[in-house]
Amino acid sequence: SVECRNIRLSYGRTEVLKDINLLIEPGEFFALLGPSGSGKSTLLRLVAGFNQQNSGQLFVDGQDIGGVPPHKRNIGMVFQSYALWPHMTVWDNVAFGLVERKLRRAEIKARVGAALELVGLSQYGKRRPNELSGGQQQRVALARTIVIEPQVLLLDEPLSNLDKNLRVQMRQELLALQRRLGITTIFVTHDQEEAMTTADRMAVMDQGVIQQVGSPSNLFDFPCNRFVANFVGTMN
Ligand code: ATP
Ligand code: MG
Repeated sequence: SVECRNIRLSYGRTEVLKDINLLIEPGEFFALLGPSGSGKSTLLRLVAGFNQQNSGQLFVDGQDIGGVPPHKRNIGMVFQSYALWPHMTVWDNVAFGLVERKLRRAEIKARVGAALELVGLSQYGKRRPNELSGGQQQRVALARTIVIEPQVLLLDEPLSNLDKNLRVQMRQELLALQRRLGITTIFVTHDQEEAMTTADRMAVMDQGVIQQVGSPSNLFDFPCNRFVANFVGTMN
């Protein structure tokens, strides 16, 4: 689980997260939806430990992880840009986090093999990122993240670089993989259809405030205000 309690965060004088309260259940696929600049990435980076809140508390599986540095949090994050190492092979990209954690060679081999298998890239270990399609690169980014067996998976618009058809395919694959692994997942998107069709529950965020939390159908049928109604599409 991930719990935010009264989280506030400012950049200089601008408050970007305003009293965020959120409880994401173990194993849940949770979508965070909102327009550009609403604070979605800021909130994910806070959970990953790259941002520090000014006040409030953050719990992962019941533990207050406020003071824990990012590399000591067992949290995996996939960035919008994938951030793969261009000079390394697919295999080395996926192995990187395990080498860093000083795991034994045999274990690294087994885990990288399994992760590449999970994302359907067993045959691509020797390629470099620029020899792959966008969807394949996205899968490498995913493999690299799940290989560390994170408690929480943070996905920051991981599909936004892909064309529409591939996006629809990849979001189904992503969901299937998440179900198989059972990892608590926060999926950031500004595409309402993507959120509505994948999420167990979702939050709509605007200007640093969580406007509403609920199941997709709940938000669609009973939006709490005009903004949510517009955003989830009932008033289009
Ligand atoms: P997008 O959909 O465009 O990715 P977002 O919801 O992820 O948007 P954030 O990146 O969280 O938005 O940014 C929220 C607000 O914080 C924006 O107004 C942004 O300009 C501001 N902001 C983000 N990072 C910084 C920073 N390092 N310094 C100052 N302001 C920042
Ligand atoms: Mg963002």
